[in-house]
Amino acid sequence: MPKAVHVAGAMGARKTATEETVGSMLRAKENQVWQIAPSATVYDAVSQMAQRSVGALPVGIITERDYARKVILQGRSSPHTLVREIMTSSPVTVTPEFTVQQCLRIMSLRRFRHLPVVQDGNLCGIISIGDLVAAIISSQAFIIEQLETYIAADYPG
Ligand code: AMP
Repeated sequence: MPKAVHVAGAMGARKTATEETVGSMLRAKENQVWQIAPSATVYDAVSQMAQRSVGALPVGIITERDYARKVILQGRSSPHTLVREIMTSSPVTVTPEFTVQQCLRIMSLRRFRHLPVVQDGNLCGIISIGDLVAAIISSQAFIIEQLETYIAADYPG
């Protein structure tokens, strides 16, 4: 009868993607939080998003979707519309202890792709759905590598 394969030990201390926390993800990435004032124009907000290669700025929060839905589709002009007119004033936030799985559940249920990270009342980062996908892909690559090492190793007897 084949022996049971216990891969957990081979994974070392690394957590699986869904167990990884927002705090460890923020530590691993360049965690500059670009912000915009509510009194700025939407044009400036969209310019900053393009310049920084991000899809949202915490203010509240304003995202590319706000621009698409509340400016373009409504025939408004971005230099003449203020951020405060289209932003979401009270975004759903998470703390650094939240896991990838919990963040995905929130984004999926609420249908948004960004979560500001707040600790003790201070904004300490923003997590996008892209960050969560990257964490899952990285974890899967690690597991595959560990399994390949395990399979290629000499049979312990
Ligand atoms: P997104 O999918 O992140 O581009 O956002 C879609 C809509 O949800 C936009 O109106 C955003 O302002 C809003 N939104 C984005 N993130 C959040 C959040 N964490 N809490 C509440 N609303 C949000």
